[in-house]
Amino acid sequence: MMMRRVAPPSSEDDSSGSGVPGWLEALLGTRFFLACAAHPGSPRNECNMFCIDCRATPAAFCYYCRSHRHASHRVIQIRRSSYHDVVRVTEVEDVLDIAGVQTYVINSARVLFLNERPQPRGAGAAAGKAAASPYNCEICGRALLDPFRFCSLGCKVHLPYPSFLLCSARSR
Ligand SMILES: [Zn+2]
Ligand SMILES: [Zn+2]
Ligand SMILES: [Zn+2]
Repeated sequence: MMMRRVAPPSSEDDSSGSGVPGWLEALLGTRFFLACAAHPGSPRNECNMFCIDCRATPAAFCYYCRSHRHASHRVIQIRRSSYHDVVRVTEVEDVLDIAGVQTYVINSARVLFLNERPQPRGAGAAAGKAAASPYNCEICGRALLDPFRFCSLGCKVHLPYPSFLLCSARSR
């Protein structure tokens, strides 16, 4: 019942000077798509939501949790592509500087991956293709389609001085 904990207007302390918002680290470390413990047996109880404005526990929650507890908060919906978590660019571009991160069009929406995806090692068509790509993730080496620097938000976080803060982000 922490209804009073609406995100304070100045949340710079959240980033602890690293350029990475605290909630982003939480987002990248959260496991999504499990059934919600609070709503077992409900049809839409898959935990695929994440709140930017409050530290929900657990961080991943379902459709019902959202309408009960985060109705007025900024909530990101996590989606899946080939068993990997993605978010729509339109849902994060206002709160995060995603410059340099490869985006993909999936189901006619532009998305980006939350975390680095394990890559096939050794032989195989994918590995061959990766070697041939002129663009690679600076952190994990994954081949990229376009001249971006990172395959995912998770790789961008690994920069020594990552910058995710938008100049305008604080004014909200
Ligand atoms: Zn729930
Ligand atoms: Zn919330
Ligand atoms: Zn990468």
